[in-house]
Amino acid sequence: MSTQQYIQTKKELMMHLEAERLKSFENWPFDESCRCTPAKLAKAGFYSCATENEPDAVQCFMCFKELDGWEPEDDPWQEHKNHSPSCPFLQLTQPLESMTCEQVLKLEMTRNKNKSKKILDKTLNEFMDTVSGVRDEMKKLAG
Ligand SMILES: [Zn+2]
Repeated sequence: MSTQQYIQTKKELMMHLEAERLKSFENWPFDESCRCTPAKLAKAGFYSCATENEPDAVQCFMCFKELDGWEPEDDPWQEHKNHSPSCPFLQLTQPLESMTCEQVLKLEMTRNKNKSKKILDKTLNEFMDTVSGVRDEMKKLAG
């Protein structure tokens, strides 16, 4: 494992903890009068993955669903449910911190499955974009 991969894996594992997710919202663009506060976002499984263009981009540590374009009235838990209804984090009946080792490992397997799917989907989309670009070029050449 490269240093880069190690850092990424460590960061991912830290995001299992609500307190760590909360720390990620340092530059959250909404104030405390909104429903989508950092505390509620962290509680709903999200951490910030803000970019310059998307300062309100968040991702769920479990299902890897990415959301942005938040409205002040949005409830993070409800939005998570609407956009990723089968997320295992939303089905938990007890806090992660009080689960047995076996329960956490099962959850971790599901999380890794979700991660693989996310990477595969991204790769597939990039491939389809490339295919589409090549097809357009070929059409141009065919005149
Ligand atoms: Zn989720």
